[in-house]
Amino acid sequence: MDLHSNAAQYASGTILGLTVLLGGCHDRVSFNNPNSSGEIGILLDGVVNGTTENDKSYITTADGHIDVGDVTAGSHNEIIAFQTKRPAALVESVAWTTSDNSVTVPFAGEMGTKFYAWILQTPYSDMYTRAIAACIKLDQIWSNERSGLYIRIFNVTDSTSDPDRSTFLDFTCSEATSLRNNIGYNSDGINIYYVDRVDFGSGFSTGNGVWCGNNTIVMGSTTSDHLAAHEAGHAFQLGHVNALTTNFDRTNVMHNASNTREFLTEGQNFRAQLEPDSVINTTYNLRSGLTTRDCGNLTETATDECPAVQKRIWADGTFPAN
Ligand SMILES: [Zn+2]
Repeated sequence: MDLHSNAAQYASGTILGLTVLLGGCHDRVSFNNPNSSGEIGILLDGVVNGTTENDKSYITTADGHIDVGDVTAGSHNEIIAFQTKRPAALVESVAWTTSDNSVTVPFAGEMGTKFYAWILQTPYSDMYTRAIAACIKLDQIWSNERSGLYIRIFNVTDSTSDPDRSTFLDFTCSEATSLRNNIGYNSDGINIYYVDRVDFGSGFSTGNGVWCGNNTIVMGSTTSDHLAAHEAGHAFQLGHVNALTTNFDRTNVMHNASNTREFLTEGQNFRAQLEPDSVINTTYNLRSGLTTRDCGNLTETATDECPAVQKRIWADGTFPAN
């Protein structure tokens, strides 16, 4: 340790030192199994410096922990943590006391998901390219937006010679069971079928995609990569945010009509992980034994148990941390 860095550390610790002098204590949050790079953000419930807080946000300092001030027990006491390549981590019932508390948040490893693409529409090579682009886009959004997920398997099947394919080239979800039975289906992942046109209630279009439930996404032949990310969001129990115009615009992955989807909030990542009906907890069963929470996918008001859907520790484009 050289003197220069000691001096810098001492100078930046002035406010903390003052807190101690005033008779408070300081509490620290550390992390097990963090990703080797990138900030960690937390949402904290408890009484901080005398004020009851719900989802008070903090970001790690360069040395990888967070000094959270003087935290004592309130009616609800917990920490939710987020980092790139780590699923949301929840520590419930934190025993905040009037003494110095040191809380360790354990991160699980990045969670691998499986997808099965089925190409019905021709030419195969064009649809294959479209499916791969969708795979890359979804993986990129999950990484950038700290969802803690990656695509472990993306299997593509050429169904362009299947004798049943033509029945499904104009598709509505009423045909989903028949599609799965006749073309193919794997129950341990999300299945994405590339057809020509999709109608989800307002007419057929090659630019439409749809989530039919039961691990089934169906995409039209000119659909964007980020629309596939949107439909996958439904599998994680995320709802449309387009009516929530104060806190969202077309840049959010879950806007229903957009050419610019890229962001997910921490409120959305929390739901994708903890909602009991998310594919994480059903199809993939990646959080066996861990707490689930039924937050309601569009709740703009925070509760003790769930951050608001628009909660952001980091800015999403023009929407700042909130
Ligand atoms: Zn949608």
